[in-house]
Amino acid sequence: MAEKTPGSVTMEKIVSLSQRRGFIFPSSEIYGGLSSCWDYGPLGVELKQNVKQAWWRNIVQGRDDMVGLDASILMHPQTWAASGHLEQFTDPLVECKSCHLRWRSDEVADNRCPSCGGELTEPHLFNLMFKTFMGPLEEEANVVYLRPETAQGIFVNFQNVLTTTRKRLPFGIAQIGKAFRNEITTGNFIFRSREFEQMEIEYFVPPETADKWFDYWLEERRQWYLSLGIREENLRLRPHSKEELAHYAKKCYDIDYNFPMGWSELEGIANRGDYDLAQHAKHSGKEMTYFDEESNEHIVPYIIEPSAGVDRSVLAFLCDAYGEEIAQGELRAVLHLHPSLAPYKVAVLPLSKKENLAKAAREVYDDLRPCWMVHYDDTQSIGRRYRRQDEVGTPYCVTIDFQSLEDKQVTIRERDSMNQIRVPIAALKETLAAKLAGEDLFVLPEGGQIWKEEGK
Ligand code: ATP
Repeated sequence: MAEKTPGSVTMEKIVSLSQRRGFIFPSSEIYGGLSSCWDYGPLGVELKQNVKQAWWRNIVQGRDDMVGLDASILMHPQTWAASGHLEQFTDPLVECKSCHLRWRSDEVADNRCPSCGGELTEPHLFNLMFKTFMGPLEEEANVVYLRPETAQGIFVNFQNVLTTTRKRLPFGIAQIGKAFRNEITTGNFIFRSREFEQMEIEYFVPPETADKWFDYWLEERRQWYLSLGIREENLRLRPHSKEELAHYAKKCYDIDYNFPMGWSELEGIANRGDYDLAQHAKHSGKEMTYFDEESNEHIVPYIIEPSAGVDRSVLAFLCDAYGEEIAQGELRAVLHLHPSLAPYKVAVLPLSKKENLAKAAREVYDDLRPCWMVHYDDTQSIGRRYRRQDEVGTPYCVTIDFQSLEDKQVTIRERDSMNQIRVPIAALKETLAAKLAGEDLFVLPEGGQIWKEEGK
C-alpha cells in the first residue's frame, strides 16, 4: 500500500526518486555497478547542467572581474610535485586484520573495524591521486595523474590569462570540470564519489586585501545557494581548525549543508596565500608575478579560492527541494526546485489522445520547445500526469482540452500552489516566460483575458 503520511526527506527517498525517474543511475549498472561512480540520466543531466549554468552566469557572465577557463584533465606531472599533492594529498589508511576492509583511520572510533569489530593495522598514508600512463609504455617516466582538483589548471595558466586578457587585480579565473580522487571510503550517494565535478574560482588579490576578499566570497557564495532556493537554516559556515587546515591554506571555511546524513561540506573557501604561484614559479623556473603599476613592483598575488562540488550541489538542491504533502486525499511528492534548475520548465498535456486534441497539443509543444526544455505526456489520467511532473520538479503544466479547440485557450497549472489559470494560446509563451522569470504579472496581448479555476 502506498505511504499515506507525508514524511521528511531521507537519502533513501532521494536515491529511489533519482533512479526511478531518471536523474541518477549507478555507473555500469548491468555489471553490478562500479563502486562510487554515478551516471546522470535524462533528467539528471538537465539538472546538473542547470546548476553549472547558474554558477557560470553568476560567476563569469555576470561579472567583469572574472574570466573562464577549461584546462585539460591530464597535466604535466611536475604540476603535482609543485602543488604538494604528490607528498601531501594523502589520507591515513587502516585495514581490518580479520575482514580486510579498509578505512580512513580518522573516521574510525576506538581503533576497531566499524564492520566486524576486528583489530586494525597501523595507519599508512595513502595517496588519493589516480595514476595512469601516457603513451604505450607503462613505465615510471610516463606516469601521469588524473587531476584531483581543477585549481591547478588555473594556476599554471595564470600568465597566459593575464597577458591575453590584460586583467588588473583583483580578478578571478573560473573553471568547471571533472576531478578524480581515489577515496578510501565513499558513500552517501553522489556526496563522495571517486569521479566528480568541481566549480572552482581562483580569485587573485593584492596580499594586503586578502582578508577582505575572503569575507566577501564567503558571503557571496552563501547568497548564491540561497538565491537558488536553498533554505537558510540548512546552510552554515564552519571555520577549519589549525590542525585541519590544508598544507596550502592560511584560512579556510566550509559552507556546510544539512544533508539527510548530517551537516557536511558543500563548498570550501580558502585563502591560499601566495603558495601556489610561488610553488609553480619555483618548479617551472617561470615568472608567476603581477606587475603593479601603482607601486611599480612585481608582486605575487594572494589567492582566494571558493571551491564547490557540482554533484554535492545537485544533491543539496534535490534534498532541499523535496517535499511531501497530502493533496486531494493522496500523498503528493514534489520537488520544489527553483525554476532555473528544474529539468523541464513546462509539460504539455493533452487531456485525451484524440487526434484533433493531440494535433493542437503538438503545435503548442513545438512552439515552446525552442525556448525551454519541454516535456510532452499523453499517457494515463491528467491527475497522474500532474503528480509525475510534481515529482520531477516541473514548474508548469499546460493542459489542452476540448474547449481549447473552440476558444484557443489553455490551462496553466502551477506546481507549488496547484492553482490553475486559463490563458489564450497566443499569450502562452509570454506568460510562461514571465512566470519562469519569477514575475507575478501576466503579460497579455491587448484584449487578452485570464481567469482562475480552482481544483479542476
Ligand atoms: P571532504 O572533506 O568532504 O573530503 P575536501 O575538503 O577534501 O572534502 P576540497 O578539496 O575542499 O574537498 O574540494 C572542494 C569541493 O569539491 C568540496 O567542497 C566538494 O564539494 C567537492 N568534492 C571533494 N571531494 C569530493 C568527492 N569525493 N565527491 C564529490 N565531491 C567532492
